[in-house]
Amino acid sequence: MTRRIYVDNSATSPVSERALKAMLPHFREEFGNPSAIYSLGSSAFKALEDSRRQVAKALGAMSSEIFFTSGGTESDNWAIYDACRNRGRPGGHVVTSSLEHNAVAKPLAKLAAEGHRVTVLRPGPDGQISPGSLEAELTDQTFLVSIMTASNVVGTVLNIKELCAVAHKRGILFHTDAVQAAGHVPVNVRHLGVDLLSISGHKFHGPKGVGALFSKIPRAPFPYIDGGGQEKGSRSGTENVPGIVGMAAALTEAVEALPSSQKYLADLRDRLVEKIQRTPGVRLTGDPVNRLPGHASFVIEGLAHGAHLINELNERGVCASSGSACSASSREASTVLTSLNISPELSMNALRLSLSVENTEEEVDLVGEAVTEAIQKVRDLTKAQYYHSH
Ligand code: PLP
Repeated sequence: MTRRIYVDNSATSPVSERALKAMLPHFREEFGNPSAIYSLGSSAFKALEDSRRQVAKALGAMSSEIFFTSGGTESDNWAIYDACRNRGRPGGHVVTSSLEHNAVAKPLAKLAAEGHRVTVLRPGPDGQISPGSLEAELTDQTFLVSIMTASNVVGTVLNIKELCAVAHKRGILFHTDAVQAAGHVPVNVRHLGVDLLSISGHKFHGPKGVGALFSKIPRAPFPYIDGGGQEKGSRSGTENVPGIVGMAAALTEAVEALPSSQKYLADLRDRLVEKIQRTPGVRLTGDPVNRLPGHASFVIEGLAHGAHLINELNERGVCASSGSACSASSREASTVLTSLNISPELSMNALRLSLSVENTEEEVDLVGEAVTEAIQKVRDLTKAQYYHSH
């Protein structure tokens, strides 16, 4: 059997041993409902609030500013809809970027259809947005800016601190989707200055289906999901205690490891990029310097479609993606890439390799070889098809 090498950690990551260990008691022994008043319930409540404190500490926030959700998508939706429907003005103006995940872009498209004005900023070719370009779009009607901390597609880490300061100078709320950044680079809400920030457990070795929204806005009595009144009445529903405990443990572990993991991953990534770029016609996308430590993304000339490359890599035991986890069907990645001035044809031929601390140098070397071979094979097939059809 071919050995499997997983290099798609931006799509999702395996639950760490520490997170799993923290979660396990909450499935059977400590399974109580946090709202129940007997001791089994109060110990679940304690686990929930301890987790809230841990997540808050990892992000530099206060516990009262952390709301648990079902993941990054929900955190983004909540931030955007709450800001626009409860704090914005009808016909008000929102600024976002062409880099955003659909979890931000789609709610904003819906709000645009409801009468909000939405400006989509295009970054430079490296995926960076300059404070000046944001400032130029702000008007007296602007009440929200939503720009991601790090790109899932091209790995660029944006200068959120500066962008947020530009919005705050005009009293405008700032949301950032930090789903790809939290646990991978330092993310401190006080340092960044943001009002709203989204994270997702499964992107930093926590479980799937759990996330958090940081909000420093004093919450209006707006119930986001109606029911039993959990999460201070904002989001009802019995809390996912094992998931929340696992996410808090994973985030704490990832943040504690940052001083060594960032360097470890950046070294592995650079080794991989160097190997892959030996093949002609392969270009690194995103910011070559300010990028996620484990993220390597490319566009590749001479392929009929990036999906063929992913299939060839799969044959060789390598789990990679063509840009973003959802891109195969939604083409979200190629929309981001074309907004970075990459041609539509080339944008369909993207490769994303995202490493984790569980990857080794030996694996990176094997992935490098597999990618080189797979590119050659798909190029040969593409050429053969071309001659056959012309
Ligand atoms: N935002 C970004 C930047 C992402 O990469 C993802 C997932 O790929 C999400 C949001 C959605 O997160 P979740 O899968 O937890 O819903």
